[in-house]
Amino acid sequence: MALLEMHKDFDREFRGDTIHPSTLEILDQIGLAAPLHEMRHSKISGPTINFADGPFRPFDLARLKTRFPYVLLVPQAQFLDFITREAAKYPAFRLVMRANVRELVEENGAVCGVKYLDADNAWHELRAPLTVAADGRFSRIRQLAGFEPVKTSPPMDILWFRLPKLPEDLDVPSGLLGSIGRGLVLIALDRADYWQAGLVFPKGHYQELHTQGIAAIRQAIVEIQPRLARHAESLTDWRQLALLSVESSLCPCWHKPGLLLIGDAAHVMSPIGGVGINYAVQDAVVAANVLTGPLNAGRVSDADLAEVQRQRKWPVRVIQGMQTLMQNRLIAPALASQSPPRAPWIARALLRIPVLRDLPARLLAFGPRRVRLDED
Ligand SMILES: Cc1cc2nc3c(=O)[nH]c(=O)nc-3n(C[C@H](O)[C@H](O)[C@H](O)COP(=O)(O)OP(=O)(O)OC[C@H]3O[C@@H](n4cnc5c(N)ncnc54)[C@H](O)[C@@H]3O)c2cc1C
Repeated sequence: MALLEMHKDFDREFRGDTIHPSTLEILDQIGLAAPLHEMRHSKISGPTINFADGPFRPFDLARLKTRFPYVLLVPQAQFLDFITREAAKYPAFRLVMRANVRELVEENGAVCGVKYLDADNAWHELRAPLTVAADGRFSRIRQLAGFEPVKTSPPMDILWFRLPKLPEDLDVPSGLLGSIGRGLVLIALDRADYWQAGLVFPKGHYQELHTQGIAAIRQAIVEIQPRLARHAESLTDWRQLALLSVESSLCPCWHKPGLLLIGDAAHVMSPIGGVGINYAVQDAVVAANVLTGPLNAGRVSDADLAEVQRQRKWPVRVIQGMQTLMQNRLIAPALASQSPPRAPWIARALLRIPVLRDLPARLLAFGPRRVRLDED
């Protein structure tokens, strides 16, 4: 098995770092959860969002029945280094860095490999019984295969930046801060050495924020979350902020003979809930469960590939539906209002009912269906 990666390393800023209970349970199945926990990490169990009518916890993973009732935060670059180091222990695994896939190799209507450019711009051809496109939200392979994702446009974008950890930060047990005000939503994730903060704002308003300048951003942070006042002083230059364009999409078809799309290539997830990495991992696990037999038998049919899509598409639809609901009911009203909004009463009421209370946490942790590696 060959893994082609176009960059020279995995070290890129502003990638998702959240490893949910579903992925931790899968890693535990293959003996990797314990060594992963030995890496420097932090944990979050759920946000406490400050609304005008008081704090609101939309979910709390700490109550779930699992060995891992939390989201583990590990920088994605370190996580991918860890996973590929472990994969390299299998003689059949080969990682090729700086391999930029440019073309599909097709014969008799089936994909039978790819052509890629190396660091010296030299062409290589790699043939395979199955090509798996895990090349992310801007997937070139998806485009080469002629698949068109159906986009939904979440009503927001995010400014992403770091804030320093200060001694008084020790008392945030959930590891996640959320605050709303002035038509903005502020989130801050505890990343052990620093806070990874995001300022959510209505789509199309970036230029306006940029024109107001960095001092206005500092001021907004202080107004929305006064406890981050000292932290905000560290923001002195607009270059400390990165704009993340929030997208969401779903490809109607994820496969053709010899080719399967997984992860963001098949479905770009909104960042709400930080589930993107975990859905990509679940796709890969279902693909392994369904396709190992056919691959070992030397014959992967289009029906086998369709089965992977069948098992994964509906959980993706469910979670994207939930994200849309949260965007429209929680985020969009908050962004539209200049005064701090109240938490939706229906959400507060439903989450007081014991059988419903842990549903959002379970959906976030595992999705609508728990995915496990088949052990046979
Ligand atoms: C800014 C940002 C923040 C996010 N935050 C979170 C979060 O907190 N939690 C979370 O779970 N998700 C988060 N996500 C989403 C998450 O990063 C993705 O859902 C997840 O990484 C998808 O995994 P993937 O393997 O499908 O694609 P990616 O992680 O995008 O990986 C695709 C890989 O393919 C490589 N590649 C691309 N084109 C080629 C080519 N032509 N040839 C060779 N290699 C190629 C890329 O270099 C990349 O390494 C975030 C996304 C963004 C953009």
